[in-house]
Amino acid sequence: MSRRAWSAFDGLNQKPLREPIHLTIDKSGRWWKGEDFDDLAEYIRTLTAEGYPAERIVQSICACGGTVFRLEADAEEGCARRTCVGCEATAFICDSGEYWADAEPEPVACPCGGEQFELGVGFSPRANGDVRWITVGERCTRCGILGSATDWKIDYGPTDRLFDQV
Ligand SMILES: [Zn+2]
Ligand SMILES: [Zn+2]
Repeated sequence: MSRRAWSAFDGLNQKPLREPIHLTIDKSGRWWKGEDFDDLAEYIRTLTAEGYPAERIVQSICACGGTVFRLEADAEEGCARRTCVGCEATAFICDSGEYWADAEPEPVACPCGGEQFELGVGFSPRANGDVRWITVGERCTRCGILGSATDWKIDYGPTDRLFDQV
C-alpha cells in the first residue's frame, strides 16, 4: 500500500499537503527561482507552511563534498534517491531505501530540461519532536527553478537517524 494513501486522513484539522505543487509558480505566472541553497530552504518553508511546516531543512551533501545531484523520485510512493554528479555515488534520501523495491522512480527533470540540482530536505515535526513529514526540494543548477519532487509521511519513531540521511 502506498504511504501516500494515508495522507488525506492524517488529522482532522490538517489540510492535505498534496496541493502545493502550484507554488512552484508565483503569482505573476513565473516559476519560482533561487540563487542558492538559502532560497531553496525558504521555498521549502513556504511550500509546507500551510500543511506541516518544515522547521528543519538540511542540504544534501555527498561524502565527496559535492552538492549537485541527479534525482530519481516516486511522488506517489514517496521516496527519492540522489546521485552525485561529481563522483557518481548514490544515496537514498531518508528511509527511501525501504520502499524503493515497491516504487516506480523516475528521473526528475526541470522544466528547462536540466537534470542537476541542489537538494534540500525539509523535516516537519510532531509535538514530541519526531519527524512527521519529509519534503524533498530541488533547485535546478542550470536555471534556478525551485521544485519539490516528492514528500511523504513518517509514521514511526524515533526518527533521529533521518536527519543523517539527506
Ligand atoms: Zn560525490
Ligand atoms: Zn532548470
